[in-house]
Amino acid sequence: IDQSEVSQLRAAFPYFAGLPQSGAVAYLDAAATSQRPASVLDAERAFLERANAAVHRGTSQAVGSATEQFERARALVADFLGAPSSDQIVWAENATDALNLVALGIAEATAAVRTGDASLGVDGSERFALEAGDEILITEAEHHANLIPWQRLAAKTGATLRWIPAREDGTWTLDDARQALTPRTRIFAFAHVSNVTGMLAPVADLVALAREVGAITVLDACQSVPHLPVDFAELGVDFAAFSGHKMLGPNGIGVLYGRAELLSALPPARTGGSAITRVTMERAEFMPPPMRFEAGTQPVSQAVGLGAATEFLTAVGMQRTAAREHELVERLIAGITSTPGLRLLGPADPAERVALASVVVEGVHAHDVGQFLDEQGVLVRVGHHCAQPLHRALGITSSTRASVHVTTTEDEVDRFVDAVRGAQRYFGAEVAR
Ligand code: PMP
Repeated sequence: IDQSEVSQLRAAFPYFAGLPQSGAVAYLDAAATSQRPASVLDAERAFLERANAAVHRGTSQAVGSATEQFERARALVADFLGAPSSDQIVWAENATDALNLVALGIAEATAAVRTGDASLGVDGSERFALEAGDEILITEAEHHANLIPWQRLAAKTGATLRWIPAREDGTWTLDDARQALTPRTRIFAFAHVSNVTGMLAPVADLVALAREVGAITVLDACQSVPHLPVDFAELGVDFAAFSGHKMLGPNGIGVLYGRAELLSALPPARTGGSAITRVTMERAEFMPPPMRFEAGTQPVSQAVGLGAATEFLTAVGMQRTAAREHELVERLIAGITSTPGLRLLGPADPAERVALASVVVEGVHAHDVGQFLDEQGVLVRVGHHCAQPLHRALGITSSTRASVHVTTTEDEVDRFVDAVRGAQRYFGAEVAR
């Protein structure tokens, strides 16, 4: 993808096309949320203007065609991920919600076994039941969304939450995982790509290690699916979660992917209308996945928009997207490492990271950096990035993160590096080269 193609791509985004020519914003916050191409906005709008109806309810033709669009979006997402069946794609609110669906579902399965609650009636759900002393393994580098649901699950079940400690640069390795997994590990949850260090985890090898001890794997794929070709079936993960709004799609929608066999045994965490087959005053029987997990009125226009986002990304090509973003990350890392007084978090080798870089500007608080950059029109994320334990492990409270997408330009990356150097000068924290 060369510069002229990037310009063409940017023209497809009202957000970028609408920016004034001079003093335009350098949008380097795609890891927090990405902008949407017109095709996504148009798909949402067209659905709402012409086809809006309550899907999977009633018998009208309008409902039929809305349901068709809704389910087509699910099939598009399945195709995008190479999932064998669209029944493996569950709509959630966002990645946080998708991760909670797994943790809360396991809590339900555990409670049902302990109380002898036969009303749950989900075949095979006992396979998820935890016993006191069972272990849930995560890493110290997780986003709070892939930490707190597991804390809560451990608290409710008597399982022990364990974690792989972060190394000095915030990374962790396959060997660290090998040491941390034990015969009692039942769940191993980790991020495919860290939203702080950008570290790319060796997923397939980690899954193989987890399998050896009989643990299920839960992948936080928030920062990978928007940037790389990702095939969960090939990686072998049991569950995976990601958000629509980081992959050029709408907010208000996320995805839980599950291996068919496991998804069909997982109890629903939320219950209510449209997820059931038969309800009496005493009990309910639940539908098979994915509908079992989608109680209540679904995020329909969001699903349609997310389907359009997968079409946009497929047209660009995920391999090409990854290659383009890799060039940008190399440039970003080169700019950072050639600036004395900056501490780069995460791998120094750009080949080991995806789409982002976080730095500490020695001697300047990240919020001051953020404000200075904002005044220069450079939009980044400052703070703990919902990863307080990782920041604590690194001996810091906050950092400044620049993240790229396929629409990012070299100029935007350079403006970030220049602005950070400007902040060093402004706050008297410049270090001689
Ligand atoms: N995990 C990671 C790695 C993330 O970067 C994010 C978003 N910052 C989340 C989980 C949570 O995503 P959401 O807020 O869309 O649920």
